[in-house]
Amino acid sequence: MILTDTLNRPLRDLRISVTDRCNFRCTYCMPKEIFGSDYQFLERSQILTFEEITRLARIFVRHGVRKIRLTGGEPLVRRDLHRLVSMLSAMPDLDLTLTTNGSLLAKQAQALKDAGLKRVTVSLDSLDDKIFKAMNDADFPVEKVLEAMDAASRVGLGPIKVNMVVKRGLNESSILPMARYFREKGYILRFIEYMDVGHTNGWRMDDVVSAAEIIKMIDAEMPLEPLDPNYRGEVAERWRYKDGSGELGVIASVTQAFCNTCNRARISAEGKLYTCLFAIHGHDFRDLMRGGATDDEISQKIARVWGTRDDRYSELRSENTIDLPKVEMSHIGG
Ligand code: SAM
Ligand code: SF4
Ligand code: SF4
Repeated sequence: MILTDTLNRPLRDLRISVTDRCNFRCTYCMPKEIFGSDYQFLERSQILTFEEITRLARIFVRHGVRKIRLTGGEPLVRRDLHRLVSMLSAMPDLDLTLTTNGSLLAKQAQALKDAGLKRVTVSLDSLDDKIFKAMNDADFPVEKVLEAMDAASRVGLGPIKVNMVVKRGLNESSILPMARYFREKGYILRFIEYMDVGHTNGWRMDDVVSAAEIIKMIDAEMPLEPLDPNYRGEVAERWRYKDGSGELGVIASVTQAFCNTCNRARISAEGKLYTCLFAIHGHDFRDLMRGGATDDEISQKIARVWGTRDDRYSELRSENTIDLPKVEMSHIGG
């Protein structure tokens, strides 16, 4: 049964956050001042078990979901994640992927591949150690992330996609070196406009380097031309190098909102369904499942929530929306 929301958008894409914890403290996502040693992360009993996640995912797939991305926090800090991957990959016709900061990927890449993971996206904001460490705030070196990408590529988790958040004054100088390096490697680099997710990162419009600015900068050195999207609702706008040496993407969530085709739902680690990255409230499924709900009851609730969805935050973003309460990115995984 295909669901559509009040703006006629189908439900196709599901992001599942498997943990709210992370071993990085990226300043734009989990700033140390807030996510410090006394921050209360979820207890183990509060987060969904692999069995609960798989049960929910199956019901979502029956409602038309074709793509599941595991995320976090950092998904690879969740013990035995490959077990969840093998439970989910047993579902046919599902595109199963994972977004990670890469810090624990080299060791787990083979187990994840064997469990049925198709591809990975690895986040990296700079090739310059000083800038990268200032951004991850965990003293983590660039080299280890690059090694993890190569390890993932070797075991067949490619083509590797690389996510780079661009924040003015921090890492614009890394745009060209990143483009050059990943063009050479054949990995697909995607530049993400810095977003006002959560309420802890101190976002200001002035800090956003627009996708148009990024494309202009790269095009001046390595000429680019636009490519058609792979499918309707793809968030990354695709560009290819005119000399045929590969492609890149820009995710212009701030300057060119794509809410009109947004077909994405998110489940937090504690089992709440969010219909927008900027939602204030989630809809509980954990207590529903633990209270003995049947699959039909869960299915009906999904249909109810999606059927009444009218979110389009990025189209409405203004100075007045910045201070609205929102869920933290580390809870629902971007
Ligand atoms: N820990 C994993 C990682 O970093 O890849 C997965 C979770 S992370 C929240 C998912 C993606 O969201 C990452 O690529 C990250 O760079 C991006 N992200 C986090 N905060 C952001 C922000 N304020 N604006 C834009 N992208 C952001
Ligand atoms: Fe952790 Fe990813 Fe957020 Fe960075 S972006 S703090 S790696 S969850
Ligand atoms: Fe989708 Fe909300 Fe982002 Fe718009 S703001 S694209 S509705 S997640």
